[in-house]
Amino acid sequence: MTVRAGREFLAIPGPTTMPDEVLQAMHRPALDIYSEQMVQLTESLLADLSKLFATKGHSYIHIANGHGAWEGALSNVLSRGDKVLVLESGRFAVGWGSTAKAMGCEVEVLKGDWRRAVQPDEVEARLRQDKAHTIRAILVAQVDTASGVWNDIEAIGKAIKASGHPALFMVDTVASLGCMPFEMDAWGIDVAMSGSQKGLMTPPGLGFVAANDRAREVHKKADLRTPYWDWTEREGSEHYRKYAGTAPVHLLFALRKAIDLLFAEGLENAFERHRLLAEAVRRAVAVWAEGQVLGFNITEAAERSNTVTTVTTNGYDPVPLHRYCKEKCGVVLGVGIGELHGQAFRIAHMGHVNAPMILGTLGVIEMALNALQIPHGKGGTAAAIDWLGESVSA
Ligand SMILES: *Cc1c(COP(=O)(O)O)cnc(C)c1O
Repeated sequence: MTVRAGREFLAIPGPTTMPDEVLQAMHRPALDIYSEQMVQLTESLLADLSKLFATKGHSYIHIANGHGAWEGALSNVLSRGDKVLVLESGRFAVGWGSTAKAMGCEVEVLKGDWRRAVQPDEVEARLRQDKAHTIRAILVAQVDTASGVWNDIEAIGKAIKASGHPALFMVDTVASLGCMPFEMDAWGIDVAMSGSQKGLMTPPGLGFVAANDRAREVHKKADLRTPYWDWTEREGSEHYRKYAGTAPVHLLFALRKAIDLLFAEGLENAFERHRLLAEAVRRAVAVWAEGQVLGFNITEAAERSNTVTTVTTNGYDPVPLHRYCKEKCGVVLGVGIGELHGQAFRIAHMGHVNAPMILGTLGVIEMALNALQIPHGKGGTAAAIDWLGESVSA
């Protein structure tokens, strides 16, 4: 017996649910890639991506997922043998660092904790030790999608500044852009990257990189540059060079619509929607945690991301819970990855999410906890409803 029907609901941290308008925007013929319309589409998107990153710098669109954009960002500013400092807080910055290593950089991981955010004072202390300035770039993720942590990029930027160290500050915003505040220029970030398929509600396949003037200056001497990723190549006068070949026309139609929806809502309103819905999830998890099985992976409340919540299962196998939610109810939760494989589940709340989606997901999880007799505090979903009712005024 099941109670599933209709569209399956993806509560995974990417790819995320796409608005119908975004899906429909792709249902049209391709454009002539040399047409004025195409040029304008690209120009409007590059300008709006810079708005999303909050930079006066340049933005670049790659036909790539986040892993591709990682490589694109690194190859444009680094040379073989350059030293990179990775700020660990889960899996993703470390993964970016592994890419740098495979490309020929020397990588040092500033040891972090899967349950805590990066500590800005530790970053400052490490940079002060590097008197010879051998570190060329610092890599960090704003949200680590595995651990569910939110890193205070503004504070890390201040710590870097206080140390007086000239390394480039490079930030992964794949799981946060369009969902949580990000201020590339104001926070002293030199290179930022993101992807289409999470907060930006667009199909997987587009990777974004933004660079300020300092990064573009360093770029001139970078020897990891290759034609496909190269910023200089992409700044050529011919439109096709912006994509190093044929433009991903339909993905651009989708992205145009998604950004239009986001700007129509207002970025600040979208951030607030994410905060409210994330807090609703946290209210529910906090109640369930009273059963001594479920808990927050991130121990400090202020360090929990507004885009994904990682819930540990304290020795209970999360697979039956996943299976129940998916097979009985049509809700797909994220699995624990990396160190949390088999020990956690993740609830994504990024991009095209609203109260019924989140309350529905929480209700289904609670239903599964009951059906599988996993000990939990009663009334988690009710706590989420109560909190949303108090916070969203009539
Ligand atoms: C998903 C994700 C990536 C990788 O993106 P892909 O498109 O899967 O290659 C990188 N960084 C973060 C923070 C992510 O959440």
